[in-house]
Amino acid sequence: MTANKDSIITLPNQHLRQRSQRIGVVTKATSDLVKDMVAAVIDWDASRDHEVTVALAAVQIDQLYRVVIVREDFNHETPAQYTTLINPEIVKLEGEIERDYEGCLSIRSVYGYVPRHTKVRIKALDANGKPIKFSASGFLARVLQHEIDHTNGKLFVDHIKDDHEAFFELTNKGKLEPLDYEKDIKNSRILWQ
Ligand SMILES: [Zn+2]
Repeated sequence: MTANKDSIITLPNQHLRQRSQRIGVVTKATSDLVKDMVAAVIDWDASRDHEVTVALAAVQIDQLYRVVIVREDFNHETPAQYTTLINPEIVKLEGEIERDYEGCLSIRSVYGYVPRHTKVRIKALDANGKPIKFSASGFLARVLQHEIDHTNGKLFVDHIKDDHEAFFELTNKGKLEPLDYEKDIKNSRILWQ
């Protein structure tokens, strides 16, 4: 069966809090997994007006393997194409720490203003199992930190857990509005269970 938007798991599903397994050998099963991940994000994007998925980790379709896909064109001017990273690891965090807004398909309707490093060095395997190393900065660096966190069972909300000013919701008009920390966030069973 092909994955679709309903394959995407969300908090409080505890699989999102688990470390994913490394891929030992890249096989057809790995490329089938990647196909499912792509199918899920394309289906999800088609259902949303104000959001476009820039990346997905395999755990988000409940496959606990260290596989991440990242959209190649963040401005979405071309049809969606994705880069596959297998067993991605941060070799080094560099640059400054900057805050920006982040959302996650696995945390519905909550956005965060999340501090991240502006540069990262990454090592991974590509879709064919070949080792690759590269540096990324800016938005891509943020996306990679978010996705590699997923492979380690960590979510963006964990970086801002006690920050009263850092939680937002997306309105129907596509605007981010602050959430009430005491009322909506602090004791949220969905987020912190
Ligand atoms: Zn996410």
